[in-house]
Amino acid sequence: MPKPKIHVVGCGQVGATMSNYFVNRHFPVSIYDTKKNAKYAQVPWGWMRRMSLQQMERLQLPLCPLDLPQNHISQGPMVISTSSELRSEKWKQWLRTVHTDARLLTEKEAQDFEIHEKYNLLCDSHDYLFDFNQYKSELIRTLQSQTEWIDKSSAKRFVWKNNFIQGILLENGQYHSIEDEAQVLLCVGNQTKHFLPVPVAGISLQYRVVPKDAIPPKPYIAHWTDNRSIQYFNNYVKLGCGMNGTLTSLPPMKFWSNFFHFLWKQNYSWQNATTAVREHWRLDHDSFESCQVDITPDFLPIVQPIGKNLTVVCGLSGSGFTVYEPWFQEHVKNVILREISENRFRIDRKFEATSFLY
Ligand SMILES: Cc1cc2nc3c(=O)[nH]c(=O)nc-3n(C[C@H](O)[C@H](O)[C@H](O)COP(=O)(O)OP(=O)(O)OC[C@H]3O[C@@H](n4cnc5c(N)ncnc54)[C@H](O)[C@@H]3O)c2cc1C
Repeated sequence: MPKPKIHVVGCGQVGATMSNYFVNRHFPVSIYDTKKNAKYAQVPWGWMRRMSLQQMERLQLPLCPLDLPQNHISQGPMVISTSSELRSEKWKQWLRTVHTDARLLTEKEAQDFEIHEKYNLLCDSHDYLFDFNQYKSELIRTLQSQTEWIDKSSAKRFVWKNNFIQGILLENGQYHSIEDEAQVLLCVGNQTKHFLPVPVAGISLQYRVVPKDAIPPKPYIAHWTDNRSIQYFNNYVKLGCGMNGTLTSLPPMKFWSNFFHFLWKQNYSWQNATTAVREHWRLDHDSFESCQVDITPDFLPIVQPIGKNLTVVCGLSGSGFTVYEPWFQEHVKNVILREISENRFRIDRKFEATSFLY
């Protein structure tokens, strides 16, 4: 039987990875994205925190090796620090539940790492830094020759009939029909709200990329504190604002009650999120870029089938790497092809997952 066509709307981390998954399995794929949308695309710090402080719902043990290019990987000690006793208690709870070599640093060890925060977690040795964006750009270059690439205009809306998407209307008025057996995957990250209501809040996070020699090297490759982060890649260093961000987009009102527990968090109403980073690294001027993470109330992704031929994937929060996990790709494929009865990433899931990081 011929394989159904997959129409992928949005070619960020999810769209590029899932398109690659389907192309490798000989599904015909069409991709809709445009350079104009680049301003919405999320730019990850680079943490492949496959183990450390991960929720059980996205942790598969034992972790299988990922099929990712080695030249984008940086390995070495990675440390997460906090001054919050509450957060450190959550870490201890996580360390008791999971088989991991992650551990809290002693005071002496923290000093050797030149780290002065109160509580410090040395990440699991399965974790590493990965240049997500470089990898995505390479994937896109390959996909452009392997798929139908529709990049003249953004997707505007779907045209529905009898619970079935019949076509995709682009901003420039162009209309693309959807074949009878085809499936549509909507993965536009923080832009999902323009297509349908989802329980997702937008938090804007600031970052800055500097040349490698602008910042002194340290005994670690990555360090994340309450108000700053640093990631040492092979050719550059990336600075971020830790847990500090600005709430820039509220979820639809019907989902507000799901978000009460974190909307009061002070770190999401930060006016000067870059101050700590600039002072710490003695950066003279404030030329930070920003992008918006899409966060669900329990920090787990949404993988939602809608009607007969739409699947929505969004809300990957701070763990976009989840889309590289083979079990997650299989799960998304099964939802798209409607070959699954149990889907723990539905919008209306009934459990509360604990986040051990935030
Ligand atoms: C500052 C920051 C740091 C992060 N750090 C990490 C980290 O260290 N580790 C980690 O695992 N995760 C991290 N994340 C999370 C990770 O970046 C996201 O989870 C991941 O990018 C989500 O992928 P996505 O494909 O859903 O969205 P995106 O990667 O944002 O892609 C969405 C795509 O949709 C396209 N698009 C938008 N609107 C339209 C439209 N109308 N029509 C067509 N296309 C459209 C955009 O052009 C874009 O290509 C971070 C996020 C941020 C913001």
